[in-house]
Amino acid sequence: MGAVTSAEAVKQIHYLAAALKAPRIVEAATRLAEQARDAGWTHEDYLAAVLEREVSARNASGAELRIRAAAFGARKTIDDFDWDAQSAVRQQVASLASGAFLTEARNVVLLGPPGTGKTHLATGLGIIAARHGHRVLFATATDWVTRLGDAHRHGRLPAELARLRRYGLIIVDEVGYLPFEQDAANLFFQLVSSRYEHASLVLTSNLPFSGWGGVFGDQAVAAAMIDRIVHHADVITLKGASYRLRGRGIDSLPSTRTANGESAN
Ligand code: ADP
Ligand code: MG
Repeated sequence: MGAVTSAEAVKQIHYLAAALKAPRIVEAATRLAEQARDAGWTHEDYLAAVLEREVSARNASGAELRIRAAAFGARKTIDDFDWDAQSAVRQQVASLASGAFLTEARNVVLLGPPGTGKTHLATGLGIIAARHGHRVLFATATDWVTRLGDAHRHGRLPAELARLRRYGLIIVDEVGYLPFEQDAANLFFQLVSSRYEHASLVLTSNLPFSGWGGVFGDQAVAAAMIDRIVHHADVITLKGASYRLRGRGIDSLPSTRTANGESAN
């Protein structure tokens, strides 16, 4: 093949890649063509390599978009987690990192005192979900109640719950830091029910399940909700002193009840 023909082909690749909205193909096609000639690849090998670059770039940018859309408070990954501080749950978290819990619509509940890494691990699981192609939304329990309450007042709760079911993962951070207003138990129950056996929830709480009735202001609704949450769930209990207070000569925080003021976790 002469140089003229090849230049024309490259021009056409530019045009065709733009038409396909796959601009990275241009760069990959040129760069891999040399490699292919040097290594004597078949046409099929070359085409597969070019397309593979485009697909993996798309997946990576899709994950990045999903991570940004999830609205995490801070970007924390499972890889950043210091297991020396929580060695007892290492295996349990590692088994979740495959992302299989998402396709099985299983839930994860992270329990433990303030500063033990609940939000960090919830965020890390969220990032894994985004990388596995799931849409993710992160918010505190208080924010979820506000959001669902607004939808309810506008007669849009069923539509909102249906929309949220398209998210593979909903993260509810800080159940229990603040007691809820009256309708909250019911709104939350509907969120949990609408996702039950369809899509995953990750919840974090500084209270054991026995304290949830008090937060939701309704023991019966809380019990029914917990029942659905834990039916298919991994419950991970974090222990020990706050990671935030490490090395500061402070052994523990006041009890969880008085730690309610620390809502900016
Ligand atoms: P919680 O939600 O349980 O109150 P966070 O997850 O917000 O705690 O953790 C508090 C801070 O300490 C965060 O900056 C978090 O990244 C960090 N942190 C907590 N535990 C660990 C850990 N085991 N390894 C690394 N960082 C940690
Ligand atoms: Mg937290």
